[in-house]
Amino acid sequence: MRALLLILLLSVSGSTMGFQAQNEYTNTSFYDVPEIKSPGGKKVKNIILMIGDGMGVAQVQAAFIANNGQLNIQNCPVTGFSKTSSSDNLTTDSAAAATSMACGVKTYNGAIGVDENGNSVKTILEIAIQNGMKTGLVATCKITHATPASFIAHELTRDRYKEIAKDFLDTPIDVFIGGGRSDFDTATNGVKLLDQLVQKKYAVVTDIDSLQYISSGKLAGLIHENNQPNMLNGRGDMLSIATKKALELLDNKKGFFLMIEGSQIDWGGHANETGFVIEEMLDFDKVIGEVLAFAANDKETLVVITADHETGGLTIVNGEKKEPTVVGNFSTASHTPVMVPVYAFGPGSELFNGIYENTDIYFKMIKAGNLKTD
Ligand code: MG
Ligand code: ZN
Repeated sequence: MRALLLILLLSVSGSTMGFQAQNEYTNTSFYDVPEIKSPGGKKVKNIILMIGDGMGVAQVQAAFIANNGQLNIQNCPVTGFSKTSSSDNLTTDSAAAATSMACGVKTYNGAIGVDENGNSVKTILEIAIQNGMKTGLVATCKITHATPASFIAHELTRDRYKEIAKDFLDTPIDVFIGGGRSDFDTATNGVKLLDQLVQKKYAVVTDIDSLQYISSGKLAGLIHENNQPNMLNGRGDMLSIATKKALELLDNKKGFFLMIEGSQIDWGGHANETGFVIEEMLDFDKVIGEVLAFAANDKETLVVITADHETGGLTIVNGEKKEPTVVGNFSTASHTPVMVPVYAFGPGSELFNGIYENTDIYFKMIKAGNLKTD
């Protein structure tokens, strides 16, 4: 009788949650993780910030289990923790968190490159341009989406996608690759933004395969009308191809700032799907390997890998090592306020040891790169 009551209670609480909280995923395709040594020099010429949206420690651990205990991220010699709360909420959204890392200010949820009073704040991408560096943004969602937008746009709310697209035209960014072409299908002074990009000497590319034909100059890679599909639905090597192209076009003797986002780890968390999270994590980690290899070879590149917040309240309640399986349990369909990991590689990486606010990621990058902010 007592057991029956317990089962009844469990089924009631399960149904009121409204989502499947627990599910498992078995990975069947693995990749090798080479040892990549962090170079020991002091000079930081290039800064690469990689943001796994929604990537908490459990998301990283799920990926570790899924790839037989090995991830490229383990090559980072420095680890820290970032506290993610926004100015108006214990639990941040992606806009406020990205603005904190891009601008060094705490702001309200939904803010894009503005402080809590709605005033525009210079982003590290804009500061990098002032310092003579090249700049780029790469994302596995719309390039106008909250995370990449917060590095280049200044808008009071994250849903102003067409205004965010216009903001791209006001900043001489060198390379951006992601989805969101439809947001550029608008006009100012009677000229479509896509045509304005051409006037400003951008090569406008609308599919991932055509990126290979661009070997110099400015690039607007708007490779999808809206958001790209997720990994389970066939996004393929998009992030790797886009990142390699960005590195090729940005590498120059005055240095560059590049932000690369694994955008959809977050969406796997919102969906409460273990497999969705893991496949997005593995895609992101493969690209981390390529970025670290670039940095190891270059010797003057700082790589910082972190998240804007955790999504889903993921815990790993069980699993299997032999046939790598993760049983993930989600406690929410939203974000959580837990600290997120920070991994750093290359010159300047030692600054990222410890526990700090997400705004400090901005200040540490500025310090490491010796960037003038005025
Ligand atoms: Mg994002
Ligand atoms: Zn989210």
